[in-house]
Amino acid sequence: MAKTLNFPQISMPLDVIVVGGGINGAGIACEAASRGLKVGLYEAKDFAVATSSASSKLIHGGIRYLEHYEFRLVQEALAEREILLKKAAHIVKPMRFRIPHQQNLRPKWLIMAGLFFYDHLARRSVLRPSKAINLSDDDGLTSAHSIAFEYSDCWVDDSRLVIANVKHAHQHGAEVRNYCEVISVTREGEFWRVNLYDHRLKMQVVRFSRALINATGPWTAKFLEQCCNETSPYQMQLIQGSHLIVPKIYEGEQAYILQNDDKRVVFVIPYLNQYSMIGTTDIPFSGDPYHAVASEDEISYLLSISNQHFKTQLTKQDIIDSFSGVRPLFGDPNIPAQKQSRDYHIAVNDDQVLPLISIYGGKLTTYRKLSQKTVDKLNPYFSHLCQTNSKKSVFNEAVGLHPVVLFRQLTSKYPSIAKATLERLIEQYGVEVWRILSRFEHGQSPIIADVYQCEIDHLVNHEWTLTEEDLLKRRTKLCYQLTADEKSILRQRLNSGA
Ligand SMILES: Cc1cc2nc3c(=O)[nH]c(=O)nc-3n(C[C@H](O)[C@H](O)[C@H](O)COP(=O)(O)OP(=O)(O)OC[C@H]3O[C@@H](n4cnc5c(N)ncnc54)[C@H](O)[C@@H]3O)c2cc1C
Repeated sequence: MAKTLNFPQISMPLDVIVVGGGINGAGIACEAASRGLKVGLYEAKDFAVATSSASSKLIHGGIRYLEHYEFRLVQEALAEREILLKKAAHIVKPMRFRIPHQQNLRPKWLIMAGLFFYDHLARRSVLRPSKAINLSDDDGLTSAHSIAFEYSDCWVDDSRLVIANVKHAHQHGAEVRNYCEVISVTREGEFWRVNLYDHRLKMQVVRFSRALINATGPWTAKFLEQCCNETSPYQMQLIQGSHLIVPKIYEGEQAYILQNDDKRVVFVIPYLNQYSMIGTTDIPFSGDPYHAVASEDEISYLLSISNQHFKTQLTKQDIIDSFSGVRPLFGDPNIPAQKQSRDYHIAVNDDQVLPLISIYGGKLTTYRKLSQKTVDKLNPYFSHLCQTNSKKSVFNEAVGLHPVVLFRQLTSKYPSIAKATLERLIEQYGVEVWRILSRFEHGQSPIIADVYQCEIDHLVNHEWTLTEEDLLKRRTKLCYQLTADEKSILRQRLNSGA
């Protein structure tokens, strides 16, 4: 679908160019634009195409990081939970997690001490505290488990969190482009000259800026070396993690965190009402992160841990889908992945005139703080940089969101639309559903399954959707719901300009 874009080949210099449209790049662009800078955000493929759509989808403090004494990271991440619950209320939800007790792996006192810290390291007003519970037969676990410890964290639609940030950046005047790859950058007088290739328009474009931010996640070191002709000041470790999607293996809205003999933990998380998501692994990775796939060993490992704990016994035939992402960890590649810090580092290469900032590591959970600290580093260069606090601002989709009230209003205004469709639209778009449905024509039928033309138009015109995969995997999670014929109809619509 060659949608015509107003993308001049050369334009006025920008203040800052952010390379990479994962959560960190999108968050930094959002922060910089809302603080008054002229921003360009360029993503080589689709927003959230890489690690930021292949996560465990948790906004969490990371209970297991306490074992590695990562108190700074855990405290910051715990505090972010309640901030993001408000900021992105349409896509961040509280979730209870259960740790089935296994005396031989971690003693009761150790887990209870860890949960005490977890409850108290940061202020909590919405999320409930931890407690010990007795497991019953209905919980779906094997009889080997009778006690569990329950605590709170949050679930997030990771790729939509990226899109929310991209949209917010755009609303604040940022030029945002997906399918627009940074090919090379050079210092040219007072500016960075950034050469881009726009894969939509199939043409080269040049942009200039005073500051350059490398938020390319797993590509951070490679980008510095190949596109900037600089040496990476820090080492990185690339670690693959995989997840399996299977039909729901237990009832209930809680997630489980399973302990394993190798001291690792594996999550089993309720997913899209009908499925369970099992993950993750930690495998050293080399190769192209765009092509990470779950190996046979990872699949067997995850199935075996699930089967040790749950009555529902899974085989490979039960797997509906699997996905893998590559963690861009900051630190010595020789340290075992399990022991490697999940914290981030913001490296400034400062020649006193043209800053080049590179992001190493990080988590979805801490993206807002990372973005704030990154933009703070631009203070010496831009006198017009405002000091607004992103802690208080809420994404448009979440402003005044009361899902129950909204659902009632929508069912009364749009009686011909199925209730399940309205629920899905609220979960994805929050109050922006009004904008989408303002173009719904009464009496209209869905194009495919429960998808109406007005939703496709919205995704193409306001969320930079280009391909079938952008729409099915990242803007929505309809990939699990549609038949091959329905996907083909969708592809035709997108190719014909929706
Ligand atoms: C298996 C797994 C589970 C995880 N679970 C969680 C979790 O539950 N909670 C949590 O908080 N964190 C989690 N994380 C960590 C989190 O997902 C990552 O830290 C985060 O997504 C990294 O985001 P990023 O923006 O740095 O990188 P990415 O999302 O990889 O984004 C980098 C982007 O840069 C683009 N790019 C590269 N080169 C160029 C170029 N030349 N020009 C333009 N664009 C370019 C790429 O296309 C890519 O989109 C998990 C990670 C993994 C792997």
